[in-house]
Amino acid sequence: MRCMDAQQIQHKLATVLQRVRLAEQKYQRISDTCELLAVSKTRPPEDLRAAYAAGQRAFGENYLQDALDKIEALADLDIEWHFIGPIQSNKTRPIAAHFHWVHSIDRIKIARRLSEQRSPELPPLNICLQVNVSGEASKSGLAPEALPELVNEIAGLPGLTLRGLMAIPAPSAEFNAQRQPFAQLRELLTACQLEAPAMTTLSMGMSADLEAAIAEGATLVRVGTDIFGPRNG
Ligand SMILES: *Cc1c(COP(=O)(O)O)cnc(C)c1O
Repeated sequence: MRCMDAQQIQHKLATVLQRVRLAEQKYQRISDTCELLAVSKTRPPEDLRAAYAAGQRAFGENYLQDALDKIEALADLDIEWHFIGPIQSNKTRPIAAHFHWVHSIDRIKIARRLSEQRSPELPPLNICLQVNVSGEASKSGLAPEALPELVNEIAGLPGLTLRGLMAIPAPSAEFNAQRQPFAQLRELLTACQLEAPAMTTLSMGMSADLEAAIAEGATLVRVGTDIFGPRNG
C-alpha cells in the first residue's frame, strides 16, 4: 500500500529543507548550519534513492536488519548512515562495521563494545549521547546527572569520537512548550563543552517540531514523515 513516488519524495524533501533554512533565518542562525537527516526507517530502498537523487546524503535508521538490507541494496551510493534506534548489546558489531554515526548511546557498555568492534581501518565512529530530557516520551536516554561521567569515560575510547547530544522529547503541539526540552539539551551541551569542546552536535527536532529545535540551536534535525509520508500507510 505504498503511494509515494520519487517526485513526491523530492518535492517533500525540498519543502522540509526550505523549512530548515527559513527557521535558521527567523532565529538568526547562520545559514546552512543545521543539517537534515532523512529518517528512512521502514522505507524501501527506492524511496532513499529518490531522496539521494535530489541531493540528500545522510540517512537515519532505527531497526538494524531493515538498515543492513538497505545498506547492502544501496552500496553503489555515497550515503552517510546514522543509527538512531535503541541498541541491544549483542547487536553492536554490525553497527560498528556499517554506520558512520550512532545517536542513541545511553550506557557505557554499548559505547565500549562499539569502540572495541570498530575496525582501526575505519575512521572512529561518530556518536551522540541520548539524554532523557524532561518529558521525554521514550524511556531511553540517560539522566542528565549521569552525563559528566559518561562523557569522561567515552573520551578514552579510541574507536569513538564524541560529537554531541541527542533527545526525543514528548510531543507537544504548542511552540513554546516544544522549545523547553530543546533548551534544556542545549544547556547540557554547553556544560559538556567545558570538558569536551569538540562536542558541537545537537541532534534534536523531528517533523512536527523542527522549527522549535532550530530556535534552540539544533545542528541536525531528524525528519521522516514529512519527507517520506506517514509510516504504515
Ligand atoms: C522516527 C524517528 C524520527 C523521525 O520522526 P518523524 O516524526 O517521522 O519525522 C526522528 N528521530 C528518531 C529517533 C526516530 O525514531
